[in-house]
Amino acid sequence: MMDERSESVLPHVDLPTSLLEGLVSGRMPHALLLIGPVGPASIARVAARSLAQRLLCANGEISLAEPCGSCPSCVQFASGTHPDYFEVTDAPIRTGDVEAVQRWLVTKGHSGKKVYLLEGVDTMTGVAANRMLKTLEEPEANVYAILTASRRQTVLSTIRSRAFIYELAAPDAFRSSDHDVIPKLQALLGDTENDSFDGFVEKMIRWTEMWLLEREPTLLLAARWQSYCEQVPATDSLMFLAEWLRDILYSRIGASQRRFRDWENHILRFAPILEVEQWANAVQIVLDSRSRLQSHVVALLNFEQMCIRLREVSN
Ligand SMILES: [Zn+2]
Repeated sequence: MMDERSESVLPHVDLPTSLLEGLVSGRMPHALLLIGPVGPASIARVAARSLAQRLLCANGEISLAEPCGSCPSCVQFASGTHPDYFEVTDAPIRTGDVEAVQRWLVTKGHSGKKVYLLEGVDTMTGVAANRMLKTLEEPEANVYAILTASRRQTVLSTIRSRAFIYELAAPDAFRSSDHDVIPKLQALLGDTENDSFDGFVEKMIRWTEMWLLEREPTLLLAARWQSYCEQVPATDSLMFLAEWLRDILYSRIGASQRRFRDWENHILRFAPILEVEQWANAVQIVLDSRSRLQSHVVALLNFEQMCIRLREVSN
């Protein structure tokens, strides 16, 4: 049910500090409303699932913000089969969805806690919202409701008044575990005096058009990318491509933070062409190719495989 692969390239979302403090001290509210972009692979969904997993994690005392990722609960959660977690992600939420949550709530739990996610409560039908109010008004011990909405104002006041509201922060555009990446990216983006990457973004834009709009053959796409590597080392070129596609992905999920801000019009032009999952897969494919290059696979062959996989994603 949950695609771990595509989520790994998504922004890490910082949960609000006040929320984390409540979590640790056992003062976690029974209903909370996270405000941020909603939908598949969105910031709000990433944050909601991370929080749910953290709540159910058997090693919850180890880290403030992160679930441990390895206890039986975390493993079940990652496989999408945790019996104490229930999510409704088919907006708009209907009465039938609320009834399904209520039926699940009365079943016997496994871990002593239950967590459910209602995504996009701002699009809930009025009847469904009324049905939900009773459950929110009379919370049971160790049951946690995580609600998400793209905007605070569009959530019914009756729902809002029963939940603690947290605004999700946009991801940090320059967060990266690869310390080598940031100075090169800043050079690419023209933030430093280094001009060795001049014009490379325009080449990537042209290449993206050839891939998605003109649908050039994959071998031609690979050869074109190879020619770009006369200017930029091959592994750097793929790092730039991954960051470029990631920016388009961020735009597709509604995150405003961009690295390629100066090329916003192109990002907005490309973003609707693919679905979120497809962009996420594309980023992953480029990152995979970059790791293969680092283990000395011949560049052109590697680019060809990458382009074939990218073509499959965009078909
Ligand atoms: Zn765990």
